[in-house]
Amino acid sequence: MTPTLVGLDTAAIHALLEQLTGAPVPPFRARQVYEALYHQRVANVTAITALPAPWREKLTAVPFGLPTPLQDFRSVDGTRRYLLGLHDGRSVETVLMPEGDRHTFCISSQVGCPVNCQFCLTARLGLERNLTAGEIIGQILYVAADNGLAADLQKLNVVMMGQGEPLLNLPNVLQATRILVDEHGVGLSERRLTLSTSGIIPKIEELGREPIRPKLAISLNASYEDQRRQIMPITKKYHLKDLMAACKSYPLRSWEHLTFEYVLLGGVNDTDADARRVVTLLGNLRAKVNLIALNPGPDIPFERPTPERVASFQAIVRRSLPCFVRKPRGLDIFAACGQLKRMSEESGLVPLTVAPPPPARPSLHR
Ligand code: SAH
Ligand code: SF4
Repeated sequence: MTPTLVGLDTAAIHALLEQLTGAPVPPFRARQVYEALYHQRVANVTAITALPAPWREKLTAVPFGLPTPLQDFRSVDGTRRYLLGLHDGRSVETVLMPEGDRHTFCISSQVGCPVNCQFCLTARLGLERNLTAGEIIGQILYVAADNGLAADLQKLNVVMMGQGEPLLNLPNVLQATRILVDEHGVGLSERRLTLSTSGIIPKIEELGREPIRPKLAISLNASYEDQRRQIMPITKKYHLKDLMAACKSYPLRSWEHLTFEYVLLGGVNDTDADARRVVTLLGNLRAKVNLIALNPGPDIPFERPTPERVASFQAIVRRSLPCFVRKPRGLDIFAACGQLKRMSEESGLVPLTVAPPPPARPSLHR
């Protein structure tokens, strides 16, 4: 993959500067570029004024790496959904959910998703490719700047719950995380960054060994093995029992708890008996549960649960664990959980902006 500046850490920037200048480079120069990219969040190389002009000139040979806005939709509830263009002509989606002075970014980790959950529109895309660390970070840099949020990113919540299964792109997700939570980098709070997984057990264990990592959320979505196999066929590979064992031995930090998401599918997994089984499954974990009423989509063969079912399910789980019902955000612009598929053309939605395709950039030949 073509390297881009956004996504590189200090060591990689240092190596790049030495390659471009053909001479030894003092380490502080790499730190200047790093801080300009992530802390000052410059929009292009020309704005890295700490760097001597001839060096900036050389750096322009490397693609910068911020995404190009293609389309942008705004919901009646204030949610914004962006379709962002990548350098190879592919695109991903990023959602911004404002809530008072707290904002939540829902970012993508892959283009499409290889996990075949039956209730999720993203699954219909299949996997096109992993996002690079720069493309993961770039979603936040671009959308924060577009919404004038660049000043105080400490208060941002970021969830990796857009397109993709983050644990199937773990090296890039971790590289992005380190830069996102570094105080000299983007400067997000590590406690406000969450990754959600369909339950890739060996990768959960790998994640737990990382010193710097997002919080862990698990998409549970079923209360027993066979039911989970039906709606999340990945369960045939990673059994529910083993997933729960991995959750039990997951090394939580002192301030951390596990989050379990549970998409309620009307008449399928939303009975009181399901709720009681969920309590049994999660009983001795430091955990909370987020219930999500199914967000419908074309060809999704499930129905929304009734409000009574949602309330009853929540009441049962709540006796044992904190349990919340996730408010659907951006339903009218197909921005809600599981709705992210590049369907704007077919959906009849009117975008706020339609940008022309980006100009071709020269690439760095090594
Ligand atoms: N791949 C990861 C993260 C992206 S999906 C994962 O599965 O966890 C983010 C969340 O959206 C998951 O909890 C998933 O169960 C939920 N989801 C998927 N499709 C949905 C739909 N149609 N309605 C409501 N939630 C959905
Ligand atoms: Fe992929 Fe998550 Fe959708 Fe399942 S729910 S298909 S893992 S994005």
